[in-house]
Amino acid sequence: MKPDLSTRCVHAGEPDDPHGSPHAPLYTTTTFKFPSTAALLDVVEGRRPGALYTRYGLNPTIQALEEKLAAIEGAEAALAFASGMAAESALFLAHGRKGIACLGDAYGGTLELLASQLPELGIPTHLLLGDEIDRLADLLQQGAGLVFFETPTNPALELFDIAAVAELAHAHGALVAVDNTFASPVNQNPLALGADLVVHSATKYLGGHSDLSAGALMGRRELLMPVWNWRKNLGQTIAPEIAAQLARSLRTLTVRVARQNESAMKIAAAMRAHPGIERVLYPGLPDFPGHALARRQMRGFGGMLTLEIRGGGAAATRVADALRLFALAPSLGGVESLVTQPCTTTHHGLAPEERARRGISDAMLRLSVGLEDADDLIADLEQALTAG
Ligand SMILES: *Cc1c(COP(=O)(O)O)cnc(C)c1O
Repeated sequence: MKPDLSTRCVHAGEPDDPHGSPHAPLYTTTTFKFPSTAALLDVVEGRRPGALYTRYGLNPTIQALEEKLAAIEGAEAALAFASGMAAESALFLAHGRKGIACLGDAYGGTLELLASQLPELGIPTHLLLGDEIDRLADLLQQGAGLVFFETPTNPALELFDIAAVAELAHAHGALVAVDNTFASPVNQNPLALGADLVVHSATKYLGGHSDLSAGALMGRRELLMPVWNWRKNLGQTIAPEIAAQLARSLRTLTVRVARQNESAMKIAAAMRAHPGIERVLYPGLPDFPGHALARRQMRGFGGMLTLEIRGGGAAATRVADALRLFALAPSLGGVESLVTQPCTTTHHGLAPEERARRGISDAMLRLSVGLEDADDLIADLEQALTAG
């Protein structure tokens, strides 16, 4: 029987240690010695797994982390990176060269890569918003080899049907990669729904404490091999110190996210009843447009929610500035609650018309719910809405 996710978070990727350490020890060394050339060649030529050189990821601390990361997404294997963008760029270079179709809104760095940097290298990219996905079949017909998307998206929490997209992409011989950062593996496992690859900014929920930058890519070993080569030669591998720190965070992942799910639901319900709020975007609310799909493909609704403040952009700014427990900062997934007004941060670079086209209003405040008491967080929102 496959152990439950909580058990895998604690025990996967924790090799037997000669000194009895229950956790994988931290090897900061960059190189590893061999008793003979024959033994060295076994590792170099892939006959035996083992440590060799840290930038290759062939370091016991990194390998232990990767075993845990794979177990957490239910994947055959995983690669750990220095950041989420490192994971995405290596993924795109390894599997996106025939063309990448991105569905819906995506992280700013991802959009920059897809909209300008990859096309500069001659890689065809296509950005389809949610209401344009009927064009996906045509793009696949024309040879796009990789479909990429986030679900839920930032900041509107739009959902895409992972199983349906995978079926369409596979019918055209294309691969599907899902950025699972917002949901976290506690709430959603895209591989189980038919996706080929899952990417995470481990800087967010996996790290969980806003104190490390890392990325992860999970999937079948055969699909990770070409990505491994890009990671190796672009020098994008996670540092062993950060790998150990991330493994520590992963041991508490399920406890943190379960609490964040619960608090976000409470806050969403309280805010929906508040006269200062125009609209609450949260997949857990029964009247949210993506709710039925969320129930089908997610186990929990996540710790991210977006509020539309009555009175527009200036009113939203006043509320953001009046919050005390919610810190005014971009990023997400940490133990501390954060608030951000997308038009001033994550989507600041877009023209107002483009934000409107993406359904992002200036009145939106995106909340990342942390581990503080939910009633304290609701009280903070209530005082800020009154003050604002
Ligand atoms: C933050 C983020 C990224 C980029 O991750 P970094 O670790 O900052 O490189 C990618 N995708 C999503 C959804 C993110 O939130």
